[in-house]
Amino acid sequence: MRQTPPVRAQGLESRLSNTRGVPARWRSDLDCVLISQAQIARRVRSLAREIEGDYRTRDLVIVSLLNGTVMFLADLIRQVSIPLRLDFIGVSSYGAGTTSGELVFTKELRLDVKGRDVLIVDDILDTGRTLKRVIQRLRPLKPRRLRTCVLLDKTSRRIEKVNADYVGFAIPDVFVVGYGLDYAERYRNLPFVGVLSDRLYTSLTTPQ
Ligand code: 5GP
Ligand code: MG
Repeated sequence: MRQTPPVRAQGLESRLSNTRGVPARWRSDLDCVLISQAQIARRVRSLAREIEGDYRTRDLVIVSLLNGTVMFLADLIRQVSIPLRLDFIGVSSYGAGTTSGELVFTKELRLDVKGRDVLIVDDILDTGRTLKRVIQRLRPLKPRRLRTCVLLDKTSRRIEKVNADYVGFAIPDVFVVGYGLDYAERYRNLPFVGVLSDRLYTSLTTPQ
């Protein structure tokens, strides 16, 4: 596999206090657009090229984690022009807050992955707890190889020893929403990745 370093979207940090580019409707909820639609599209295309090259001769099964991967997955696999199978695992952390709570599996894998090349696709790698648990669940099913692909990687927050093989963007330690990622089930439909205003989530998580 060609290991390419994760792309650090240029100027990500400098955008953190700049509300320009945030559509008017979302200006009171978001601090900034961290990754634009165009940047996402470019990066997803190049990830797809890499995956296509690496799995051309393999029996590829993509296992996507619900629900945050919807947009990333749909954009990615439409550009991976090799035969593949697709299945989903539902993982949910208890609580609607911005910290990773206890993990619950809400949907189990249905495809047989034995002897196949599995690529787990997730939205964001944070502490690493989710991916670690999912890997532990898939290993006993004896895939030939198990690799991971995430759109976003918050490297500075890692607790578990887990890395993604394919990373869209390495991002700073901020809470992001959009392009499938939610806060309390909202904002998934934003076509870009934005930073949720901490004023907003403090007011939502503090009992009134
Ligand atoms: P981990 O288990 O690696 O700590 O966290 C992974 C999960 O936490 C992600 O799949 C995602 O659901 C959630 N998460 C972590 N950071 C963020 C974030 O900045 N924004 C959103 N919306 N979810 C996040
Ligand atoms: Mg998730």
